[in-house]
Amino acid sequence: MKADLHCHSYFSDGKHSPEYLLRRAKELDITHIAITDHDFITPVNKSLAEDYHVQVIPGVEISCNWENQEIHVVGLGIDSQDKNLKILLELQREARKKRIFDIDKLLEKNGIKGLSTYFESLPCISKTRSHVADFLVSSRKSKSRAHAFSKYLGKKGRAFVSSEWISLSQTNEAIIAAGGISVLAHPSKYPLNKRRFNELLETFKQKGGDAIEVSYGGINAAIQKNLEEIAINKEFYVSAGSDFHDAKAHWTDLGKFPAITSKAKKQAIWHHPRWPS
Ligand code: AMP
Ligand code: MN
Ligand code: MN
Ligand code: MN
Repeated sequence: MKADLHCHSYFSDGKHSPEYLLRRAKELDITHIAITDHDFITPVNKSLAEDYHVQVIPGVEISCNWENQEIHVVGLGIDSQDKNLKILLELQREARKKRIFDIDKLLEKNGIKGLSTYFESLPCISKTRSHVADFLVSSRKSKSRAHAFSKYLGKKGRAFVSSEWISLSQTNEAIIAAGGISVLAHPSKYPLNKRRFNELLETFKQKGGDAIEVSYGGINAAIQKNLEEIAINKEFYVSAGSDFHDAKAHWTDLGKFPAITSKAKKQAIWHHPRWPS
């Protein structure tokens, strides 16, 4: 089994279609893929997946709030028709729309027009600041995505708008009620000290969290080792995925992340009782 359980399509801030991801998975001998778009359950054509001999695990990546810190939780094996989860994700996308609208207003105050027209040309259903960064680069207002975040979109930027996400516990509840497995995404990417990070893990577990990602694109060996040890000691299942967005970012690819070590593999997420068989 070769699984990539975290990646994005152009329905959120990825650059490629779900079909591209399936085709790339087949090329790379990936047997299981979860397309985990931001706050949207991307529909995947079943017969297409069969044609590519790839098993698709229904997935989503939800942005949520834990004590004023944004946290990302991946839901895997969810029922994509679950009413409650669908409503909650719609609310998240509405909050995203409003945030982008407010960012647009701030950009206009800074003399930058055209964001809403830019969005009309995109297939995305879930709007993100990543799209805005691309707009700023393509309209030559920023020299890079990083520059777009530091000058405009980040906390100290001229067009910063804070986000209003649902809570971590609401997120876990909704994923689990939809039959899914709740996974803490890229745990090393939050700006938390050791004590706060431990508190996050504790709360996540308390609120029904099942698993943590221990490997992802760009992770280093020491961090992976640490996360695997945490998973073993705190009895979390382990998950992993590339967080792939864009083939033009040539240092990333579907399936590109260090393998889970054999010790941690004993707790691989596919052993979870709710893993779709
Ligand atoms: P949002 O969910 O609207 O806040 O957008 C977040 C997305 O923007 C993330 O999923 C990343 O893909 C991207 N992103 C966030 N911060 C940065 C950054 N500093 N530089 C480049 N991309 C970023
Ligand atoms: Mn993203
Ligand atoms: Mn994320
Ligand atoms: Mn992601």
